[in-house]
Amino acid sequence: MDSKIYLSSPHMGGAEQAFVNEAFQTNWVAPLGPNVVGFEKSLESYLGHGSHVAALSSGTAAIHLALILLGVERGDEVICQSMTFSASANPIVYQGATPIFVDSEPETWNICPNYLEEAIKDRIAKGKKPKAIIAVHLYGMPYKVDAIKKISEKYEIPIIEDSAEALGSTYKGRKCGTFGDISILSFNGNKIITTSGGGALVSRNPKHKERAIFLATQARDAAPHYQHSEIGYNYRLSNISAGIGRGQMEVLDKHVGLRRKMNQFYKEIFGRAGGVKVFSEPTSDFFSNHWLSCILVDKKISGFSNEDLRVAMAENNIESRPLWKPMHLQPVFKDAPYYGDTVAENLFEIGLCLPSGSNLRIEEKVKINDVLMQLIDN
Ligand SMILES: *Cc1c(COP(=O)(O)O)cnc(C)c1O
Repeated sequence: MDSKIYLSSPHMGGAEQAFVNEAFQTNWVAPLGPNVVGFEKSLESYLGHGSHVAALSSGTAAIHLALILLGVERGDEVICQSMTFSASANPIVYQGATPIFVDSEPETWNICPNYLEEAIKDRIAKGKKPKAIIAVHLYGMPYKVDAIKKISEKYEIPIIEDSAEALGSTYKGRKCGTFGDISILSFNGNKIITTSGGGALVSRNPKHKERAIFLATQARDAAPHYQHSEIGYNYRLSNISAGIGRGQMEVLDKHVGLRRKMNQFYKEIFGRAGGVKVFSEPTSDFFSNHWLSCILVDKKISGFSNEDLRVAMAENNIESRPLWKPMHLQPVFKDAPYYGDTVAENLFEIGLCLPSGSNLRIEEKVKINDVLMQLIDN
C-alpha cells in the first residue's frame, strides 16, 4: 500500500538542520540561546507593526500567559469563539476562570460580532464584565477584524488573537498576529511552519514580551540566588526547536503559496460537482494562508455526504477530518454559557478538512483527485 497521505505534515525547507547543528556545535542545547533570539527577531520583522515576540514552548502556553498578562483570575469570565481547537479555551480553565462561548458567523466561520455583543451585554447585566475575548482565525481565515475590534473598544475588553493557524494570512494587507492586544502563534508539527513543538506570544507592547519571558522562565526575581515573588512557568522555547523555526521562516511565504495552491486544486475538483463548497475568502480584505482546505457538503445536491467522503478517503489511506467540533458541544464544557444559534454546529455537521500540506507530491495529488472524482462521478 502507498504511504499515508496526511492532512498537514511537517515540511522542512533545508536550512533548519544547519541552525540545529550550530546549536550543538556551540553547546546551546538549552531553553535559551542565539536561535531563540534569532527566531524572535525573524518573526518580529515578518509580522511588522511594532510586534514584540516571546518564543514559547507551545501556542497553548502562549494563550495561558496572555490570560495572566491580562489579569484573568479565579472566578473571572473570558469570552471564547466556540468553533475552535480546545487549546483556545483550556487555558481559561487553567486560570480558574469560566469560558463563555460564542457562535460563528457563516462567512469566515469565526466569532460572530452580533452574538459577541449580545454575550457581553448579557454578562454585564448578570453582574460580571468579561476580562478578555479570544478570537480565532480558523483554518487561516482571518476573523472580521474591524467589527470585532470595534466591540472590544466599545466595551473596553482586550482581545487575545489566536493566530495559531494563521501565520502568513492577512486582513486588509496587514499580517494576522498583529491585531490582538495580545496575539499568539503555534509551531506545532501540523501547523503552517513548525519547530516540532512551539509557540509565541506577540504584542505591540514591549512590556508584554518582557513579562511573558519572565513568567515563562519560572519568575525568577533579580537576585544571585533563586528568589521568587510570583508563581512561574517552564514555558520557554528550546534553542534546538528555535533553530528549526529559523530555517522554517525562510520558506514560510513559499509554503503559504503552496497551501493556497492546494485550495485551488480542490476548487477545480469540486467545481465539477454540485453541492460542495470549498471554503474561501468572502472579500478581497481577507487573505487566508489556507492552512487547511475545507469543504461544506450539501448531500441533497451532491448525492454524497462529508462522511461518505471521509470514509472513501480513509479506505485509500488518505487522511481527512471533520471540522473542529464547537466547544459548547464538548462534554468537558457542557456547563459553560453559550451565546448564538447553530451556525458553528451546522458547519461541523457538513464540513470536512482535506489534505492540505505544502509538501504533497504530484502522485499524491493524482491519487486524491482520483478518489474524489470517483465519488463525484458515481
Ligand atoms: C494548534 C492550536 C493551538 C495550540 O497550539 P499548540 O502549539 O499546539 O499548543 C491553539 N489554538 C488553535 C486554534 C490551534 O489550532
